[in-house]
Amino acid sequence: MIKALRGMKDIIEDSDKFTHFIKKASEVSENFCFEYIETPLLEETRLFKRSVGESSDIVNKEMYQFTDKGGNDVCLRPEGTAGVVRAYMEHKFDKMATPKQWYYYGPMFRYERPQKGRLREFHQFGVESFGEASVYEDIKVILLASKILDSFKINYTLKINSLGCSECRPTYMKDLVSFLEEKKDNLCEDCQRRIIQNPLRVLDCKNENCQNELQTAPKITHNLCENCNKDFEKLQNELKKLNIEYEVDTNLVRGLDYYNKTAFEFVSTEIGAQSAICGGGRYDKLVEMLDGKPVPAVGFAMGIERLLPLVNIENQRNGIYLGIMTEDARDMALAKFNELTKDNKVYFENRVRKLNQHLKKADKLNLKKVMIIGEDELKNETFWEKEL
Ligand code: ATP
Ligand code: MG
Repeated sequence: MIKALRGMKDIIEDSDKFTHFIKKASEVSENFCFEYIETPLLEETRLFKRSVGESSDIVNKEMYQFTDKGGNDVCLRPEGTAGVVRAYMEHKFDKMATPKQWYYYGPMFRYERPQKGRLREFHQFGVESFGEASVYEDIKVILLASKILDSFKINYTLKINSLGCSECRPTYMKDLVSFLEEKKDNLCEDCQRRIIQNPLRVLDCKNENCQNELQTAPKITHNLCENCNKDFEKLQNELKKLNIEYEVDTNLVRGLDYYNKTAFEFVSTEIGAQSAICGGGRYDKLVEMLDGKPVPAVGFAMGIERLLPLVNIENQRNGIYLGIMTEDARDMALAKFNELTKDNKVYFENRVRKLNQHLKKADKLNLKKVMIIGEDELKNETFWEKEL
């Protein structure tokens, strides 16, 4: 028997939660005046190499990369931001730094070790906002994420950090590298490599031993320039005013290379070790890095599969069950079905059944109203009706 590939899943049992989540998250995003964007699943490999970063785990180890029949080096998208940035530039919005607020959802592909909460094909819901440099846009985006999670009554912890900017980060990096050089022998192999390739990423290491060593590491939030510091304070003040609880996590750096200033992550304690449900932040240099005009931007991505166990939807009865008890009633029932489906959810049982069989099935399908037509009803041109 042919089975789905390892780490890839059919969405069947949770499909109602899945569609419900996308509908609701889209609705909340549209309330924030974000518009839908869809970009291709396949992009040139160099788009991800240059945006997500050569030294990131995603590009280093996890890409579904291949040469297509035309000899092009292509890659199934491991995340959504790179493609959206490419689209922003390809449609020349960067030329005028046109503000654009977009949301998207769809499958992402990463060749990771499959485990609970970690798939090779998974789905994200994300937003990106281009053209707004102010920290108030970061606040807007965090508020949007929290509203989506709140609409499903999901419990979360919001972690925030500031990664500084091109003014303050280089000095911090020097301090960090000399600290890491001293600790080098006690760090894991990956981290030893990261000291040279991308020292900031060491802070994010999942290895417990590394995390212990890092407790005395210099903190980026103590080394911010005046501007970054002011923004980080504003961010915190506004979150307090909005009653959005948060924790400052100075080790939060996120797994992609392109972030600066605000970085954030929503985590849940209810879904096991893979606890990150939403990650995001500001990426003011990415458009420029991909040869566009400099345009500031901020966004987030949620992992839908990780959220589904936390999504509660009320399973209320709704819809109509339409059944026949005699073959002669079929035409009349079909005409009714045609009429009702204009604006109702209707299940039309096309087999002739006894009343209690119809009722049982309507109950099983969780429908609310039953409409049956038998001999008498056919004569009177009426329907027998019952609410479940
Ligand atoms: P993690 O630290 O858990 O690997 P990440 O930093 O790689 O997460 P992002 O690239 O920021 O994750 O992606 C945003 C969200 O997508 C994550 O917070 C998570 O909910 C989800 N996600 C990431 N990788 C996977 C995966 N392999 N399977 C399922 N969901 C994932
Ligand atoms: Mg990851």
